[in-house]
Amino acid sequence: MTRLIYADNAATTRLDADAFEAMKPYLLDNYGNASQLYSFARPVKRALMQARADIAECIGAQPEEIYFTSGGTESDNWAIKGVSFADLTKQAIVTSVIEHHAVLRACEFVQLIGYPVVYLPVDKYGVVSVKSFEEMIPEKTRLVSIMYANNEIGSIQPIKQLVDIAHAHNAYFHTDAVQALGHINLNVNDLGIDLLSASAHKFNGPKGIGFLYIRSGTDISPHSHGGAQEFGMRAGTENIASIVGMAAALKKNCAEIEHRTVELHALSDRLLSILDQAGIAYVRNGSKDCIPGNISLSFPGQDGEALLHRLDLMGISVSTGAACDSKNNQVSHVLSAIGLPQDCARGTIRISFGCFNTIDDAVAIGNSLVKILSK
Ligand code: PLP
Repeated sequence: MTRLIYADNAATTRLDADAFEAMKPYLLDNYGNASQLYSFARPVKRALMQARADIAECIGAQPEEIYFTSGGTESDNWAIKGVSFADLTKQAIVTSVIEHHAVLRACEFVQLIGYPVVYLPVDKYGVVSVKSFEEMIPEKTRLVSIMYANNEIGSIQPIKQLVDIAHAHNAYFHTDAVQALGHINLNVNDLGIDLLSASAHKFNGPKGIGFLYIRSGTDISPHSHGGAQEFGMRAGTENIASIVGMAAALKKNCAEIEHRTVELHALSDRLLSILDQAGIAYVRNGSKDCIPGNISLSFPGQDGEALLHRLDLMGISVSTGAACDSKNNQVSHVLSAIGLPQDCARGTIRISFGCFNTIDDAVAIGNSLVKILSK
């Protein structure tokens, strides 16, 4: 039987076994409601507080600045709509053309109801130009939302420089760090970030859970009205098991970032060296400064979807681009934004290695691509 090689970790990751163990008691035994006062609920409340503190520590925040959500999409929507709706004067929002659709669609929505939105271009490496940001930021800007790292091509943005410009214009800075958190070290205070979106399933935590970091004092509307959970900002009984699993996974990933980064770069290098040795023509998309293990490759004249299916038949799972876009066979907005010619863009696949991948996986993917593309 063919061994399954999963190399689509930018779409989602395997749950870490320790995170799963940490979750179990809150599914089976400690199922009390964290809001209740009796002793049966106390360990649940304590677990919630501990998870909040652990997550805060991983990003250099205070526990009361962490708000649990259902994942990246919800966090992005809350950040953009929540900051906009708290501003009745309808000042501008600045974002980039390569954001995830959770940001782009939320921006389109607030634009529809009267908030001006400015979309920053990116260069051929998928990086926002600090200079054009300085030139394009409107005088009255309320919020700047630029992703930390792109999900399709892995490019990391010059966040600190962008934050400084946003703050010089008295604007809040939000970053969608869904692809970055747990994979690169980041500290919200060192960078000056005001809001940060995260999603557990991208760092070996469970699906359907994430958080929004909101710096104390940020003027933002509540996500939902109801009970007093999440400091009265997001009502609804907390998903304790998933919150505990997310905290365990994030702590572990953050502790292992350095050596995992080295390993993931080694896997990418090995795969690319196989293509090079076989003389396969390809373009690697994205900037040099990218998420470890994220490789976006364009093969001129090829069909990315056909490549995906050929690899699938060989037991290898990769993506054609953004997972959220897999039903849409148009060239992705990210590949268009970096100016990739159509014949290259159509032949694009994204290989994203994670902590469970081995050098054998990289070799097998490289050899399989050579086999398919040499024909
Ligand atoms: N933002 C980015 C950059 C992503 O890559 C994704 C998921 O692919 C999301 C947001 C959405 O996250 P979630 O699946 O947790 O809603």
